[in-house]
Amino acid sequence: MRVVHLAAEALPFVKVGGLADVLGSLPRALAKAGLQTTVVLPRYTGAGAVGELLGELGYHFAGGTHNARIWGAQAGGVSYRFLEVDPDWSVPYEQPEVERYLRFNRAAAVWLEGQGYDLLHAHDWHAAHAVRLVDRPAVFTIHNLAFQGVLEPDEYQRLTGSAPDPDLLHEGRVNLMKGALLAARRVTTVSPRYAREIQTPEYGMGLHRVLGDIRGKLAGILNGLDTGYWNPATDSLLPQRYDAANLERRSGNRAALLDETGLDPNLRLLGAVTRLTWQKGFDLVLEALPGLLDLGAGLVLLGTGEIELESGFAAAARRYPERVAFHAAFDEILAHKIYGGADYFLMPSRYEPCGLAQMIAMRYGAPPVARATGGLADTIEDGVTGVLFEPASPAGVVEGVRRMLELDRESLARAGMARDFSWDSSARAYQELYQEAVS
Ligand code: ADP
Repeated sequence: MRVVHLAAEALPFVKVGGLADVLGSLPRALAKAGLQTTVVLPRYTGAGAVGELLGELGYHFAGGTHNARIWGAQAGGVSYRFLEVDPDWSVPYEQPEVERYLRFNRAAAVWLEGQGYDLLHAHDWHAAHAVRLVDRPAVFTIHNLAFQGVLEPDEYQRLTGSAPDPDLLHEGRVNLMKGALLAARRVTTVSPRYAREIQTPEYGMGLHRVLGDIRGKLAGILNGLDTGYWNPATDSLLPQRYDAANLERRSGNRAALLDETGLDPNLRLLGAVTRLTWQKGFDLVLEALPGLLDLGAGLVLLGTGEIELESGFAAAARRYPERVAFHAAFDEILAHKIYGGADYFLMPSRYEPCGLAQMIAMRYGAPPVARATGGLADTIEDGVTGVLFEPASPAGVVEGVRRMLELDRESLARAGMARDFSWDSSARAYQELYQEAVS
């Protein structure tokens, strides 16, 4: 089968967030399984000189005819095509983003007409419109439901030259994601539990009814980890490498982490590596802090985001210098040291489509304490590889940590390290879904 992925970002070329990780790993896993795999991205001029120039392509957009330059590269068994539709487009999500991604989808659809392929796999709203423009079967994946690609109908008409079809309209505006949800043969999101949750008003971001209507073609498939990169046995960013056979070596990382952060060695050490946004629930942790410290826990937190949270945790670290450490930065090295050195990993997300951090933590022997939502609930086995708690409240966080501290840390760590978080089984699930979509 020949599959073309369409997305806004993909490693190893351009990364803003987790979407790039998925588009870096999944196509490779599919290529390894024998599928002919191509990834099509916009060419962002700020992402450096990628690929070699293959040719040009004419397409219609916004009342005119334009030329896109096509660039190509090859990596890990996957073919990459970069469509240069706007020489001033420097990075993903740069404004005017809706116009730019619509233009990219238009050019991609024209390019696809000349290609032999069996299936289009489009990711998030940035690739949604192409699902409606191509004449082959398409699969659409929701990675982030919060962003749907919304524009006014008259703007849509100006850019595409036609009035929006009723399938595109949602609450009086054009919603590109909704268009793809209706047009795709199959729709997926990144965990089975999240696939159910998004059909409810609480999690559906305004699209819960549409998602409920299409539930017959909606499935959840978990993301995998890049287990070559995230491997405590070979991780060169760790002071001490280890695996399940010599787990005692992990204590060297714990000692180094305590040394670096100045925390008290007698603490039960909770680690966290996160964006500090409402989604991730760290406002609850801030409120829960006195209760957590009462339990004998301490916290090392690495993260950036909302200013009130950053200043709240900075103040807590000043107030409890031996029990709370906070680094307001994006720091790949410290992240590895936390996964490889903390006793536990805290992830109290309000919602979590899949989540990678809890899988990394399990693989590194730091059992997660997490909210029972989305991919957290699908990847953590309560009482076996970690602890899941229900209420999104400070009391819920304290109760989760309290339960965790009563369990045997090492058995949980070993159970988590023994789990398979690779892409292999998810790649198989996508393959089956592709077969259904084309038949
Ligand atoms: P999301 O994609 O919603 O932010 P995930 O758990 O899926 O959450 O993925 C987050 C990834 O980003 C993990 O690999 C985590 O280690 C990394 N990360 C998040 N914040 C930081 C930070 N401040 N420094 C280093 N890595 C970070």
